[in-house]
Amino acid sequence: MSHTPHTLPHAASEEAGWRFDNTYLRLPDDFYSRTTPATFQSPKLAFFNRLLAAEMGLDPDAMETPDGAGVFSGNQIPQGAEPIAQAYAGHQFGNFTMLGDGRAILLGEQVTPDGIRLDVQLKGQGPTRYSRRGDGRAALGPMLREVIISEAIHALGIPTTRSLAVCATGEAVYRESALPGAVLTRIAASHIRVGTFEFAASLEDRESLVALTDYTLRRHYPECVGASNLTLALLEAVIGRQASLIAQWMLVGFVHGVMNTDNMAISGETIDYGPCAFLDAYDPSTVFSSIDRNGRYAYGNQPKIAHWNLSRFAETLLTQIHPDEKQAIKLATNALAEFSDQFNRHWLDGMRAKLGLFADEADDLGLIDELLQWLATHGHDFTNTFRSLNPSSPLDPSITPWHTRWIDRLARQPHSIEQSVALMEKSNPVVIPRNHRVEEALTSAVEFDDFAPFEKLIAVLRRPFQQSSDISIYQLPPPKDSAPYRTFCGT
Ligand code: AMP
Ligand code: MG
Repeated sequence: MSHTPHTLPHAASEEAGWRFDNTYLRLPDDFYSRTTPATFQSPKLAFFNRLLAAEMGLDPDAMETPDGAGVFSGNQIPQGAEPIAQAYAGHQFGNFTMLGDGRAILLGEQVTPDGIRLDVQLKGQGPTRYSRRGDGRAALGPMLREVIISEAIHALGIPTTRSLAVCATGEAVYRESALPGAVLTRIAASHIRVGTFEFAASLEDRESLVALTDYTLRRHYPECVGASNLTLALLEAVIGRQASLIAQWMLVGFVHGVMNTDNMAISGETIDYGPCAFLDAYDPSTVFSSIDRNGRYAYGNQPKIAHWNLSRFAETLLTQIHPDEKQAIKLATNALAEFSDQFNRHWLDGMRAKLGLFADEADDLGLIDELLQWLATHGHDFTNTFRSLNPSSPLDPSITPWHTRWIDRLARQPHSIEQSVALMEKSNPVVIPRNHRVEEALTSAVEFDDFAPFEKLIAVLRRPFQQSSDISIYQLPPPKDSAPYRTFCGT
């Protein structure tokens, strides 16, 4: 990394489709710091998301070029971009810390042809004011991993940040060993986190906190702007989106792995693909992350942790919710109490769909729990079991009593079996990013420069509900004798 990046001439920026409007810069300047991106000798595009580029109003052909590698490495700054690193704080494994973009820079906000505002962020671009002891860098493997998992989550219909491009920098980053470096272009509804509010509250400057609240409301929850208590409306709306998001994770067996408050987006998108992974066998205590020794972020703990994070969010809003602290706490506590009901409703609705059930019956939870208990007892695969549920025959003799109960339940609804099966087929994915397949694709790309398995895996994951004959190897759980899968943070 060396000299000042070039600004792309205006015409080139326009041809590519960039249309920046950087509203975050209107917040008080405590919230960010202007940053000069690092430059790299020989950046090369390793991944480019043509579909997403087109959705964003960018011209894929103009970008899948050396110029594109220039932009997605940070060497060339498109006209209208105003690079900053954002300040934030966060509770990491329960402990409060001041943080900030230590290895990311926000180029700006792209306004799409549909009028949608999206953050364009380069991750792994180099040190910033908030890097602390970190090098500001990212390695190619983990950035390609973020592409795979975020594309899978998006295709499953779950709100998420997206991956527009990965650029290999041609420089090494040093972890336990030297690894090829890369920059990921992350696209997000915004990067405002619970931790951004914790940062604002820590400033002890009411104006800053009010400015952030107002900005967030307008950007993400414009429907709340007429509410009589705006801040309470924001809290309730964020609780609602998180309840829905976490339910969706649970329904596909997704373990985020590092649900620190700085990794919870106020927009309700899944953000920060570090040690995340999908369940194979159903076990609520599943933890993949090597640093999560106490299982704080285990699969089954995610709803509880989301509630904990939202409580930290609520605390930052108290002074704006009501001038009287007792009143404020009461209002916030009531709002937080809604989280469990909302989560349970989303989760139950989702589970019913997975079982082909259209309406509610009082004992549906009992029916679902019995199946999950059976999965846990036998260590059966979560994804494949749901996908292979078949009204005409039990999967295994040990599930016959449950199967009979399920068939009786199906028979009590007015819908045909075909209708139930159709509902199940669009609610139970045929493929998820299996850990051993992800690793295989990454090894091949990073160590052998063969991107074919990576491209193929992404293509399969983009059609998660579509059965086809050539996907069977992507459906297999890991071999029974394989070691438990481990993931790593901060890579
Ligand atoms: P994460 O675990 O990815 O959520 O990151 C937690 C914090 O550490 C964030 O403030 C990151 O910006 C920062 N961070 C992670 N990796 C690096 C790195 N290589 N250099 C500087 N900061 C980093
Ligand atoms: Mg993070």
